[in-house]
Amino acid sequence: MIKINKGIEPKTLTKYRASISLKDREGKSIYENFEHKTQEGCNSKEVGNLRFQLLEDQGYVCCYCLSRIGCYKSKIEHFKPQSKHRNLQINYKNLFISCSGGFNGNFRCDTKKGDDELSSVDLLTNIENHISYKKTGDIISNEQFLEEDINKILNLNSPILIELRKQTYSDLIVLMKRQKSGTWTKSSIQKILNKYKQKNKKGQYAEHYGMLIYFLQKKISKL
Ligand SMILES: [Zn+2]
Repeated sequence: MIKINKGIEPKTLTKYRASISLKDREGKSIYENFEHKTQEGCNSKEVGNLRFQLLEDQGYVCCYCLSRIGCYKSKIEHFKPQSKHRNLQINYKNLFISCSGGFNGNFRCDTKKGDDELSSVDLLTNIENHISYKKTGDIISNEQFLEEDINKILNLNSPILIELRKQTYSDLIVLMKRQKSGTWTKSSIQKILNKYKQKNKKGQYAEHYGMLIYFLQKKISKL
């Protein structure tokens, strides 16, 4: 996980909210009707579309596991669940986009979370400062409630995710060896770090970029 900088709320959402009375917004289940009414989906990729805007905000990675996602195989995530927080169901700050969530018996992210609430995670703050990674692909936190969110609610240490992160770490090492033989300096690592902190030309962050940034920063701090 890493802090998500949200862009401007999509017009489709602003328009829809204006068409619903405050009473209904706070009392009824209205999100599904929004998707139905606006026909939000992968066929309408124009700017102003909710799904498109969330992907753009997040650089085409899942809000929790940072795996690559696209318009298909992704889900709109209500951070505070719709069933318990009706007033937030069409609030843009409560909306994110996550991966499709794995398969039965090994669910993760939004699918695993379901109607549960995260007690410690806040995606709009620097959540990355409270987590660390192991070279084996594990994601850990010294904070008890965050650790529970990571493992019990989101299952971010599922065997598949651990394997994927381990591979991403190995790829980073290969890339660094290929780019430079001999001693690395702070500035040469900083260059790679800056690349991962930014989206590429397609507006995408690297898969698991939170972890890549973590290891590169760690390496810099040791020099
Ligand atoms: Zn995910």
